[in-house]
Amino acid sequence: ERIDISLLVGNIINEVSLELEEKQITVVNSLKKSIQIKGNYSLLYSIFRNLMDNAIAYAGTNIQININCFREDENYYYFSVADTGIGVSPEHLNRLFERFYRVDKGRSRKLGGTGLGLAIVKNAVIIHGGSISAKNNQGGGLEFVFTLAKEK
Ligand code: ATP
Ligand code: MG
Repeated sequence: ERIDISLLVGNIINEVSLELEEKQITVVNSLKKSIQIKGNYSLLYSIFRNLMDNAIAYAGTNIQININCFREDENYYYFSVADTGIGVSPEHLNRLFERFYRVDKGRSRKLGGTGLGLAIVKNAVIIHGGSISAKNNQGGGLEFVFTLAKEK
């Protein structure tokens, strides 16, 4: 199916709008119209939904979430989903995508996740021909950069 990523992300923002308001989180969605990918809607949805849910759950209050498609070439779109929250300490960065890996067991147990979200994200990215990495931004906050093939 041909998926419009701008619409998909717009839908997610609407779905989480109450939580955004409660936590005073601002989403800056810089996706332009017509980012079209031939792929699977529910997998593509799970990528953006998990990243958004995580930022809402872990990054803190009074933060910003920035969603951007910063590059396009013949075969790929390049995305970033970044928040201005607390980030994670550097030793965790490369393990975030492991199944059941959670950074702060005590803190995050109350938040009730299983640690599968980012493993699902990574799989969905790979299925769409891309790759994903995480880094902490200078100003603080976690940034995910990933590619998605226009046609898988
Ligand atoms: P699930 O997604 O299965 O409900 P989870 O959210 O704990 O559980 P992941 O989505 O894989 O699992 O995330 C792994 C861990 O990475 C989280 O437990 C959290 O500690 C950390 N994390 C993820 N995103 C952020 C973020 N934006 N800011 C700070 N920490 C984060
Ligand atoms: Mg999660």
